[in-house]
Amino acid sequence: MLIVPEHEIADLMTREAAFDAVEAVFAAMAAGQAYNFPVVREALGHEDALYGFKGGFDRSGLTLGLKAGGYWPNNLETKGIINHQSTVFLFDPDTGRPRAMVGGNLLTALRTAAASAVSIRHLARRDARVLGMIGAGHQAKFQLRAALEQRAFEKVIGWNLHPEMLPGLEEVARGAGVPFQAVELDEMHAADVIVSITSSFAAILGADQVAPGTHLACMGTDTKGKQEVDPALLARARVFTDEVAQAVSLGEAQHAVASGLIGEGDIQTLGAVINGDDPGRRSDEEITLFDGTGVGLQDLAVAAAVVDLAVEKGVAIEVEV
Ligand code: NAD
Repeated sequence: MLIVPEHEIADLMTREAAFDAVEAVFAAMAAGQAYNFPVVREALGHEDALYGFKGGFDRSGLTLGLKAGGYWPNNLETKGIINHQSTVFLFDPDTGRPRAMVGGNLLTALRTAAASAVSIRHLARRDARVLGMIGAGHQAKFQLRAALEQRAFEKVIGWNLHPEMLPGLEEVARGAGVPFQAVELDEMHAADVIVSITSSFAAILGADQVAPGTHLACMGTDTKGKQEVDPALLARARVFTDEVAQAVSLGEAQHAVASGLIGEGDIQTLGAVINGDDPGRRSDEEITLFDGTGVGLQDLAVAAAVVDLAVEKGVAIEVEV
């Protein structure tokens, strides 16, 4: 079995490799070649931790495994390590033997950023020039970096509930040579692409605050009860997702579906667009919205890619099991 420790990931994994891995696995899911197993998530009753497993099998890429991990709220304060902790385990689908154990913390950030980037590549207007960011936490910087590579953006505008966090986004935008401006939510109307990545439990962005032709990647809602946009926006938009079953139960679409504004049948997969089985955006005026809920197969895809890179560079640790 190979081990790729967390501290090796930053030097090995690129945004490009994460993008390719996530795009390929979304395509495989839509083609019925890959499926996610039911998610397990448990409150441990120890250290206030939430722990769980997200697994799946991709027959086309022959990737089998799971991500085990969760959230330990006291880690940073008491132990000086980050609160989100995860590890990916890959297995040989021919034998069931363990193939690799891979640090999953940075990979989670990269695969989540890749998902919204894939949606922008396939659904945003080609002439998109203004990128709007809602959210400025840990994950927002990764989303911004990956999004900026998808179109010739000339400006980033950002809003966050806690405005003191916005300089973190500004630094990323300026690092990519793009000016940044903090705005009010009404000014999101100027954005051609909007990425939302917050831990909000109530709608932030109203349906009227979005201009025709905008592409939105709603990435923060990954749990029942979380919400980032007015459900009326989903009724105005063509809605896409990574996995429909997750979108309607714990993604941004949960609210629009529960209130009857849209039905499950109104949600398409991004994979179908990648495969050419769905037209995606149909006009320059259409609003497209990607509900990125986050699936285990994304984790497995980026972990498999990083194992290949680690073997190539001779840094994978081999152990007998
Ligand atoms: P973080 O704690 O670093 O940042 C949280 C962000 O949400 C900050 O911008 C904060 O100002 C904002 N926020 C907090 N409370 C808010 C509220 N009540 N209303 C509006 N904004 C609020 O977290 P993060 O790591 O950046 O993750 C952000 C979200 O993305 C979380 O909900 C997380 O679960 C989710 N996430 C989703 C995926 C996926 O695959 N879809 C993957 C990773 C994280």
